[in-house]
Parts: sequence; C-alpha cells; structure tokens
Amino acid sequence: MNGESNESNENRENNASGEEATRQRVVVVTGAGTGIGRETARAFAAQGPQVRVVAVGRRAEPLAETAAGYPGRIEPLVADVTGPGAPEAIVRETLERYGRLDVLVNNAGIVRGGGLGDFTRDGVESVLGTNLVAPVLLGQAALPALAESRGVIVNISTAIGQRGWPRDSVYAASKAALETVTRCWAVELAPRGIRVAAVAPGAIETPIGEHSGYGPEQLAALREWQIGHTPLGRIGRAEEVAWAVVQLASPQASFVTGVVFSVDGGALVK
Ligand code: NAD
Repeated sequence: MNGESNESNENRENNASGEEATRQRVVVVTGAGTGIGRETARAFAAQGPQVRVVAVGRRAEPLAETAAGYPGRIEPLVADVTGPGAPEAIVRETLERYGRLDVLVNNAGIVRGGGLGDFTRDGVESVLGTNLVAPVLLGQAALPALAESRGVIVNISTAIGQRGWPRDSVYAASKAALETVTRCWAVELAPRGIRVAAVAPGAIETPIGEHSGYGPEQLAALREWQIGHTPLGRIGRAEEVAWAVVQLASPQASFVTGVVFSVDGGALVK
C-alpha cells in the first residue's frame, strides 16, 4: 500500500467516525423506571445529544425520575410490555417520535421465586410472559426498523440462567430461553445487519427483591448468600451492568454478536 492510499484510508476512517459521532441513535429500554433499566437509559443518554432514549415502563412517575437531568434525551413511554398490542405500539410510538430505531434493550423482567410445589399457573405464565414472550414479540415488532438501521438487540439475562440454582427454576429457565433466543437471532438476523447480544448480571443492587415480594429479613439472607457465591465478594451496581449494555450496543462492537456477557463478579465461573 502506498502513502497516498494510506492517507485516503485514514481520511475515510476520520470521516466515518465523525459521522458516527453525529448520527442520531435511538434506543428503546424496557423496564427503565428502576434499577438496571434506569441506569442503562441514563448511560445511553450520557453518550451525547445525538442519542435519544425511549424509556418504557408501567408507571409514569419512576420513568420521569429516570429522565430527570436528561431533558429531551430520555423520553418516557408508559406501557406494559406484556399488554396486547404493546410491542407494536412501543415501536410505532418510537418511530413517530424519532423516525428510526437503532437499539432495543429487552430489560423488563420479573422474579417469582419458589421451589417445585410452590408454583401456580398464573405465576409461571407471568414470569414467562414478561421475561420471554414480551422480548420475543418486541424484537419481532422492531425487526423492520432494526433492519433499516442495521441495529442491535441486547437482552438482559441472569447469571442463574446458566447454572442450576435452588428455588428459582422458572425464572432461570425464562432467562436461559432468552439466551437461546439471543444465539438463534444472532445467526438468523446477521444477514440483515442486525447484531444480537445478551448481558447476564449476577447479584446487583436494585429493587428487584422488593418487587419480588421479599421482606427485609429474606433480602438480608439472600444478600449474604449472594456475596458468598461471588468471587469479587460484593453486590454489583446497576451502572456496572449498564456499562456492558452500552459497550455491546456501540458501533465499535461491530464484530460482536450471539454472545452472553457476564457482569457477575465471577459468580458463573466459581
Ligand atoms: P427491577 O425490578 O428494578 O427492574 C425491572 C423493571 O421492569 C421494573 O422497573 C419493573 O417495573 C419493569 N417491568 C416489569 N414488568 C414489566 C412489564 N410488564 N412492562 C413494563 N415494565 C415492566 O430489577 P432489576 O434488577 O433492575 O432488573 C432488570 C433486569 O435485570 C431484569 O430482567 C432482571 O431479571 C435482570 N437481572 C437482575 C439481577 C439483579 O440482581 N438485580 C440479576 C440478574 C438479572
């Protein structure tokens, strides 16, 4: 390669990264009113004014809190992802607002712990409906827009989706299925320029325990057990998970697809 073509390559790269920095990117984050979803919405918004985040959740108040400090960059959208027609409505509203969709983060999730003997049909169906059916239908609704933007889907799984743990079988199975969906979509959607990845958090400090109906004593016992099973010896922060989501969704991760990225203090490999 001679000096002239080296220089033109460099110019092309500079131009490409310049365009990349100013091109609008529109991100949908579900379950963005609390915990990991809130910090993920904020981490995307903190990237700059070219990023617009549609923060999806069931209640307006926590979503407004997520958006506080990011006027115009984080826009709440009140929706229950399991509702009939909700996936299509979320995508339609995003396209009406911004005309494009680049990143879908399937983060909304619920835990209904219990051992075999404790389950009800409603309980099992609500875990699968929120953690598996909703992300699948939202991915499907977003497909044309993501194909157009050559976008990215990031699914939020869990460290316990990859191991055997007591008293969380249906939740773990819902996330293991979401990881399988991630790998299958990565292969299926690669020809359309769409990347698909998952992040598998370990024990992270969020209100998920309270949302799952755990009392203070149960939560304290759970925390102690989780720390004992985490080589780094602590509970993680939602920002640490958000960092991984943003990295996987970034244009610099252009050769990454089909992975499940652990953010778990080493819990999986212990
Ligand atoms: P969280 O309870 O704070 O967040 C979940 C959010 O999803 C909540 O805001 C909730 O209101 C929302 N949500 C639930 N059902 C919804 C629905 N039908 N429609 C719209 N929104 C809905 O807990 P979190 O820890 O931030 O959880 C985020 C994701 O991370 C979940 O998928 C969870 O399974 C996963 N995760 C969490 C941990 C952890 O230790 N915190 C570990 C592994 C995986």
